[in-house]
Order: sequence, then structure tokens, then C-alpha cells
Amino acid sequence: MNINQRPSLAAVPAYRQGKSAAPGASKLSSNESPHAPLPSVVQSIAKGLENIHRYPNMAAPELIGALAKEYGLDPEQISLGAGSVEVASQLIHAVAGEGDEVMFAWRSFEAYPSLVRIAGAVPVEIPLDAEFKHDLPAMLAAITERTRLIFICNPNNPTGTVVAADALEKFVAAVPENILVVIDEAYVHFDRSDIRVDGLKLLRKYPHVAVLHTFSKAYGLAGLRIGYAVSPTQVAQNLRKVAVPFGVTDLAQRAALASLAATAELNVRIDEVVAQRERMLEGLLAAGYPAVPSQANFVWVAAGDHTAELESVLNEGNVVVRAFPGEGLRISSGSAQDVDRVLAAVNNKVQVKSL
Ligand SMILES: *Cc1c(COP(=O)(O)O)cnc(C)c1O
Repeated sequence: MNINQRPSLAAVPAYRQGKSAAPGASKLSSNESPHAPLPSVVQSIAKGLENIHRYPNMAAPELIGALAKEYGLDPEQISLGAGSVEVASQLIHAVAGEGDEVMFAWRSFEAYPSLVRIAGAVPVEIPLDAEFKHDLPAMLAAITERTRLIFICNPNNPTGTVVAADALEKFVAAVPENILVVIDEAYVHFDRSDIRVDGLKLLRKYPHVAVLHTFSKAYGLAGLRIGYAVSPTQVAQNLRKVAVPFGVTDLAQRAALASLAATAELNVRIDEVVAQRERMLEGLLAAGYPAVPSQANFVWVAAGDHTAELESVLNEGNVVVRAFPGEGLRISSGSAQDVDRVLAAVNNKVQVKSL
């Protein structure tokens, strides 16, 4: 006999993680930092190892205090999760229930549709425009009585495109104030555009804005799982209720705190990733590939029907990427060597695999 389970889970795909890579290959499939952790961060984690027989402090007063100070926020507005993907899930659970709608652009972050369905809510996907950007007027037009939350992924994963600050402000102002607009800024540190959105500025000005930040990408802590939301106080209270108790470890809190203390060093690394992104984009365009200008730590190649072909060319060049069959592929901006390999592969000068 079958075990009684939630039938709605049949529609939920298991999360597809970026492909792993053989030792020595360039793993450009998960938008990770190509840099090893900073020594000061490793040191801080090592100190915390002495205490792993204890539960972490869920209130994380030091980290939350440091974030509040850094961004001039009320600590009550900040809530943590095991990566910002967990915080995104908390946000959905806090505002949407059975049959409620959660809207986002598509294609966007792969986790959104599953997280929404797991909460029992209905994902509403609004196609990106012809330039792979959010179609804000279409999103506005799709709001219904059941809409509870709208994700704006900015810069957008996997296309790297951004919404303009003035357009987003107009959008936020037009969304009814009982609907939460969540600006997912996982890649905001890599945005060098002159239309750059400051999500926290919008949050200060409008009562129905939340911002998602992560330590996984620019800060290079993907393996430790820590991210946070800044949200209206009434929402933040509920985020703490729906969070899994003790989900954020003391080691992760320490690493995040040490990273905030090392922003100057980290900024040098972020600039390097941005420089490699630009070099990769130019090289791909020069080789005739439909690469899309990006403000994130990756480049989208709108390869369409040639996606599988391009993926195998890159794999042969010892590069692992994230492919979306029939649509395109996303190549993370890695080290100079990683980008050399990408460009060698697409120029058909595939280097012989070492060993
Ligand atoms: C990577 C990513 C996140 C969060 O990752 P975590 O490791 O869970 O913090 C959130 N949003 C988007 C759009 C991402 O690409």
C-alpha cells in the first residue's frame, strides 16, 4: 500500500544542483566564488569549532548588530536563514498559503517555483522580455486578489540582466501595499550599471518591500549556508516563527561576521570577478556567441537549440556550466584561468586535458 503523502508534491521537481566537476576542471555551474576563503574567515571558523557541542544562538546578536550598523537598520528587521534560499522559503511561508499566488519573472532563480509549490501556493511566472529582462508592466497587470508576494531577482539569475532603479521604484509604488515585493539581491555586489537599484533604499521608503542578501556569492561562503532578509518588522517577526530552529550554525555566523570585517579585501576579489566577467562576455561575443551583457558573476549565452552542442564544446574544454536545454547556458565568472579555458573552448582551441 502507498503511504499517504501530499499529492501536490508530484508537481515539484527536485532541486537540480549545478553539475560537479572532475578535479582540475573549471566548475562554472553554480556561481560560486573562484577564491579560497580569506585566512581571517578560516581563523574565525576554526575558533568556533571548540564550541560545536553547543547549539548556536538563534538570535545571532553580534551578526545582526553588525548588519544593522553597516546598513543603518533596525535589528528587528533583519532575519537569518541557512542561505538566502531558505529565507526566500520563509518569506513565502510567512505570507502565502494554500491557493495564494506568488509571482516572479521566468526564467529566473530555479528554486522559486519549487519553494512556492512546497508552501501550497501557486507560482505565477511572467516571461522575461525580448532582452531577457523583467517585464514589469506585464507583472503589474498579472496581479490578482490572490497575489501575496512578488520576487524581483535583481540582477536576474540566470540572465544577468537588471531592472532600472526608476522603473523598479515606479513598479513598487504601483503594487498594492498589502502585497510584499521581495528584491532578491544575491548578485547585487557585481552590479556596475548606472541604473543600479539600491533595494534597501526602496525598503526605507515603501512599507511593503523586503530585500534578500546572501553571503554565498560575493562573500564566498556558499558552503556554510547563511543569508538574510531585511523586511518590514511585522513580516520579520513571522520569518522568525517559520524558520527551522537552529538552522544557522555558529560557524556560519562567525564566518559572516568575519567577512563583514573584511569588506575591503573582499571588494578586491569582487572587482576581479567583474573584470573576468567582462573579459568572458567580450570573448564570447567576439567568437560569435549570443552572450548577454551581465551585472552578475556569470554570463548567459542565449544559445537556444545549440545549447547542448555548446555545452559539450565547453565540457571538452574542461569547463562545467549550467545548461538549460533549448534555452541557453549560464557560465559563472571564475578565475582568469577559468575564463581562458572558456574562451579557448569556444574558439575551438580546446586544450588537451591534463591527465
Ligand atoms: C544563489 C542564489 C540565492 C541564494 O543562495 P544561498 O546560497 O541560499 O544564499 C538566492 N537567490 C538567487 C537568485 C541566487 O542565485
